Amino acid sequence: MNKLSGCALLVLLAFSAGRARSQEMAVTFDDLPSHGALPAGMTRLEIAHSILETLHREQLPPTYGFINGGRGREAKDSPAVLAAWRAAGQPLGNHTWMHQDIDLESTAQFEADVSGNEPLLGQLMGHEDWHWFRYPYLHEGATLEKRRAARAWLSAHGYRIAETNMDFEDYLWNEPYARCVAKHDEASIQKLHDSYLAVAGQYYTLFRELSHMVYGRDVKYVLLMHIGAFDARMLPELLAFYRSRGVKFISLPDAIADPAYRDDPDVGEPSGGTHLELMVEKKHLTIPDNTKPYKELEAMCR
Ligand SMILES: [Zn+2]
Repeated sequence: MNKLSGCALLVLLAFSAGRARSQEMAVTFDDLPSHGALPAGMTRLEIAHSILETLHREQLPPTYGFINGGRGREAKDSPAVLAAWRAAGQPLGNHTWMHQDIDLESTAQFEADVSGNEPLLGQLMGHEDWHWFRYPYLHEGATLEKRRAARAWLSAHGYRIAETNMDFEDYLWNEPYARCVAKHDEASIQKLHDSYLAVAGQYYTLFRELSHMVYGRDVKYVLLMHIGAFDARMLPELLAFYRSRGVKFISLPDAIADPAYRDDPDVGEPSGGTHLELMVEKKHLTIPDNTKPYKELEAMCR
């Protein structure tokens, strides 16, 4: 091999290795304006500002916040949270008015819960695109009949589904964090910090595995987050973790442009799940063993 072609080969190898390492991911936040326990001495608006400052500092692309306009109305800073999200230039989407579980209501009630959110979304978003829908609890219908009816209605009303496929149940840490703050238990907060990042790492690997099982490649991922106090605190380190693994952040519309999302799993699933999990089910594949520290989190700072 002559020197020039050896060099060219090295460049090519380096390039393909770089490509293999690089994944793309959109970040999304659910349950605006109010999610999870509020630690003593903190406001919902402070949580929102913290997240918005991180998104700005880290120069993330526009980041959708999915709202439940009818929840958190009793909190006086709820309107300010939604206004702050918009003032920071971040878009909003529909997560239903009251965050009802589609499987605990009729199709007509589901449709009313979605459309009930629209006047507020229209008012906050103006001419920008708010026709993105995120299912509460990632429940898309326990039966095929329910699922297909909901999807048909959403499509007829101009919605695209904000699928997700990177989910480590980030919200689990918000309740114990509030308890640990109340107890001034810094050692336990450090444990929460460590387990949050560890579990995010495990599920990053797991969802990439599912992606390779179903599509033989990394699809463009969509991370599911919630507007919680511990999420706000951990966001800088979480983003740094993903970047350390070669993740490039993209917008939700760019992620959903991946042809993988044209696949409708078309399965009735009482437990719900992310797009990749439902595709695994459709293809009769098996999700590798995985677990989260539910019991430990539940017991923390009692
Ligand atoms: Zn939610």
